[in-house]
Amino acid sequence: MAGYETQVCVIAAGPSGLSAAVQAAEDGAEVIVLEKASGVGGAANMGMGPLGIGTKYQKQNMQDITVEKAFGMFMEYTHYNVDARLVKRYFEQSAETIEWLEDMGVEFEGAFKYFPQSEPTWHIVKTDTGIGPRAASFMNKALYAKAQELGVKFLLETPAKKILMEEGRVVGVLATDKNGQEVKITCKAAIICTGGAGCNPELKKLVISMERICLILLSLELWVTDLKWHGRQARINFQYGLNRQPVWLAWKIYQEAFPIFLASQIFWSIMGANAL
Ligand SMILES: Cc1cc2nc3c(=O)[nH]c(=O)nc-3n(C[C@H](O)[C@H](O)[C@H](O)COP(=O)(O)OP(=O)(O)OC[C@H]3O[C@@H](n4cnc5c(N)ncnc54)[C@H](O)[C@@H]3O)c2cc1C
Repeated sequence: MAGYETQVCVIAAGPSGLSAAVQAAEDGAEVIVLEKASGVGGAANMGMGPLGIGTKYQKQNMQDITVEKAFGMFMEYTHYNVDARLVKRYFEQSAETIEWLEDMGVEFEGAFKYFPQSEPTWHIVKTDTGIGPRAASFMNKALYAKAQELGVKFLLETPAKKILMEEGRVVGVLATDKNGQEVKITCKAAIICTGGAGCNPELKKLVISMERICLILLSLELWVTDLKWHGRQARINFQYGLNRQPVWLAWKIYQEAFPIFLASQIFWSIMGANAL
């Protein structure tokens, strides 16, 4: 088994892991980063840039967007279905995060609107080919270079498997390298930065069940509206002798088939959630 010793072990090298590694190294810690993939950057390699509120780019263009206003818009947009304290903190620290990223060598094109009704909070990263998809990969490259410059060691294709604890304290991390060999990192602290809800089966179950319920309610609403409309049409057609047979038949089938569709949705929502 290969072994390493360090002060801080950062698990994963997406933008959160890269930032954690750079900050810990800047603060003087010895850092090792374990990353499952063969490259760094995670999902952010697909993005274009981070959010910023009250940044110099907005001020330069007289774009007056405050944390309070953005917070209100965001909470409305997400139907208050998010962690409000986390969102507030994210928004409050966003301007200094943009400045911190610039200190790390990241350059920005400016602040843009994500869609016409939104505010220009999207800070698109400058690339060598202009504005476009995957621009944020340049942010990841800059953070990766800064981390290496600060002496951070990266073990790619080495997913963490287990956090080792002794008397309630982290003492190490077990990982597996690309050849299937076990790797042990002895450390004083581990920072888990492995990303979003994909690793949380409970949350996935909840979200999928909620989506199914919304779909069922929406289908029900459409069905009732449609049924009323079809019923009226069928009655009119029947009264005036238009296409009497086919219209009645179609309406009957529709009437009979929908509850089956509904039942199957409920069945699959239960089976689907249980299968996760
Ligand atoms: C198409 C797309 C476009 C987007 N555009 C934007 C945008 O323009 N602006 C914006 O703000 N956000 C955008 N996002 C969202 C943004 O990419 C994510 O919020 C961000 O990447 C989250 O960063 P993270 O470091 O927390 O996790 P991730 O980027 O998900 O990184 C997680 C990392 O963990 C690694 N990992 C997982 N398990 C292990 C393990 N056991 N051991 C070691 N490593 C592990 C993964 O390989 C990965 O590298 C976009 C997302 C997508 C998919």
